[in-house]
Amino acid sequence: MFIDSHAHLDSVDFDSDRALVIERARAAGVARVLAIGSGTGPGTLDCAIKLAERFEGLDASIGIHPHEARLTAEEDFRLLTELAGHPAVVAWGEIGLDFHYDHSPRDVQLEVFARQLKLAADRRLPVIIHTREAERETLRALQEHWTQPHIGGILHCYSGSLELAESGLAMGFLISFSGMLTFPKAQSVRDVAQRVPLERLLIETDAPYLAPVPHRGKRNEPAFVVETAKALAQLKETSMEVIGRQTAENYRRLFDRGYSRDPGRFTRDPVVQ
Ligand SMILES: [Zn+2]
Repeated sequence: MFIDSHAHLDSVDFDSDRALVIERARAAGVARVLAIGSGTGPGTLDCAIKLAERFEGLDASIGIHPHEARLTAEEDFRLLTELAGHPAVVAWGEIGLDFHYDHSPRDVQLEVFARQLKLAADRRLPVIIHTREAERETLRALQEHWTQPHIGGILHCYSGSLELAESGLAMGFLISFSGMLTFPKAQSVRDVAQRVPLERLLIETDAPYLAPVPHRGKRNEPAFVVETAKALAQLKETSMEVIGRQTAENYRRLFDRGYSRDPGRFTRDPVVQ
């Protein structure tokens, strides 16, 4: 049993066969998927909620990705706060900083990130962090604006330094690894994964992006999260089953804690065995 902690199931890449993709995930033993709700920015902030209402086994997040920070209006923060109250919403993200692409000016990224950290803390929702070529700034923003560290969160699709991973762990975050773990050239990612304790790890696809070996170059989908579990099992010298069970347990622990409205949600869910 596996949980894909990060998939963009709203992507147009899934428009033609979304139901089949979710069916294939289930058949591969993926009992739960966290549908990321950043969408294409303001105007689509409820995209994951709509999916979670339609398909069983999906959780939803809400949030404005740093790429779209420049499109954000005051009204969008109000809308996010309102959407945060929806029963399918378990997390706020992905939010953060991306100084690699710089699709939005850096000061605007910082401001939109800080605002959302505060709002998520108010709503007691764990945060899902995207950071690229902005490690120091991300850490500083978290230290300054993430006022509820006991709620925790996720450093997603991790490919950063060991130092950032350690700082994240010290702040109560889980570290989520994607199909990158299977890429021949990603030894540095494997080195970090090796050092993160099993009880602080998550696995994700980041579908439709970053398909793992042996699907590389194709569209990624939640069923492929098993390849990441396999890679992690090799690194940790254990079985895929242990990786699946432990990462699913980590996921539930994180969201049960943040999910103050309905703490029994995951234990009652018939989809999770
Ligand atoms: Zn993502």
